[in-house]
Amino acid sequence: MLGPETERLVGHLSPLGWSRRECERLAPLTLRIRALARERQAVILGHSYMTPEVQFGVADHRGDSLGLSTIARDTDARVIVFCGVRFMGETAKVISPDRTVLLPAPEAGCSLSESITGDDVRRLREQHPQAAFVCYVNTSAEVKAECDVVCTSANALAVVEGVPQEEVVFLPDRFMARNLQALTRKRVIGYSGRCIVHETFDPRTLLDWKARHPSMKVLVHTESPEEVVRLADLAGGTGDMVRYVRDSDAQEFMLVTECGLADRLRAEFPGKRFLGTCVLCPHMKRVNLRNVLQVLESPRPDQVVEVPEEVATRARRAIDRMFEITARKTDVARPHSGSGEASPRCE
Ligand code: SF4
Repeated sequence: MLGPETERLVGHLSPLGWSRRECERLAPLTLRIRALARERQAVILGHSYMTPEVQFGVADHRGDSLGLSTIARDTDARVIVFCGVRFMGETAKVISPDRTVLLPAPEAGCSLSESITGDDVRRLREQHPQAAFVCYVNTSAEVKAECDVVCTSANALAVVEGVPQEEVVFLPDRFMARNLQALTRKRVIGYSGRCIVHETFDPRTLLDWKARHPSMKVLVHTESPEEVVRLADLAGGTGDMVRYVRDSDAQEFMLVTECGLADRLRAEFPGKRFLGTCVLCPHMKRVNLRNVLQVLESPRPDQVVEVPEEVATRARRAIDRMFEITARKTDVARPHSGSGEASPRCE
C-alpha cells in the first residue's frame, strides 16, 4: 500500500518541489490518517490556507470555510474534521448540528473573528437601530447569531445591496467595509476588525512586481487595504481566485493572500506560474498531520466543537438569509457539493 500512496503524494506534491524521498517518508502517516477517517466515517476538510501535506495528503475536500461546511453537510459522514481555525469549526457545527465536528488545533483562532463579540454587536445595535447588520463569515457563531445576515467575500456586495435598509453595519473587517463602500451607494458603517495577514500587503510591492511582469494578473483578497485592492485584476475571496486561475488564459499570477493558496494552485495548475509575495497565517499553520491523526484517534474534549442550540439556530438563520438574498440576486450564489472545490460563492 505504501507504494501507491507514495505515488499519489508525488503526483500532488512534486510540482511544489517535494522529492520522492520526502513523499515516501510522509506516506505511512497519510495512509494511517485516511484509513482511520474511513473507520470513523469522518470527512476531512482542508481550508485552502492549510499546508500542502494537509491539503493534498489527507483532506477529502479543499476550499473555503462555508463551502467546505456545506459540502460536509451533504455527505454521509458522521464526523467532520475541520482543518482550519475555530470559527470554521463553529460554522460547520451550525450547518450540521447532528454531526460531531472536530478541530485538530482548537487553540487556532483568528484576529478577525476575535475582534468582535456578541456583546459588541448588541451595543452597536443600540447605536444604529435602523441599520441592517451584515457579518462576514469569519466570525464566531455567537456573532453570526446577533446579525441579520452573513456574507462571504464573494457575495458581500450582493448581500449589502440585497438587504432593504439603506444603512448597513458591516462586521468586523474594516478594509472589507471600506472596499464595499466604494462599490455601493448605501451607507456602510465599518468596525475595527483586521486580518493580520491581509492588512500587511503594500501597494508599492505590487507596483514593483507589476512593472517587472506586465502580463501577470494580480488577484487580491478583499480583506486587504483599499489601495492594494485598487491595483487588482480580481478582488475577491479565495474561491474567486481559484476560478480565475482555472478559467484565465494568463500564465502568470500574483496571489495577494495567505501562502497556502499559492501552494494549492501550484499543485493544481503546474503549467501556470505564481509569483511575488504571500504571508503565512500563524493560526492556520497550527494544524498539522500529527494533530489530525491525534484528533481522529482520541479527540480531547476541547477539540469537539459545541455551539449552544439557541445560538446555532439564530446563526443558521443568518446564513440561510444570505442564501435567500443571493439566490434572488443571482442564480450562481447557491452552494453546490460533490467536488474537491468548495461552493462558488463561499469564503
Ligand atoms: S488569514 Fe486572517 S482571516 Fe484567515 S484565519 Fe488567519 S487571521 Fe483569520
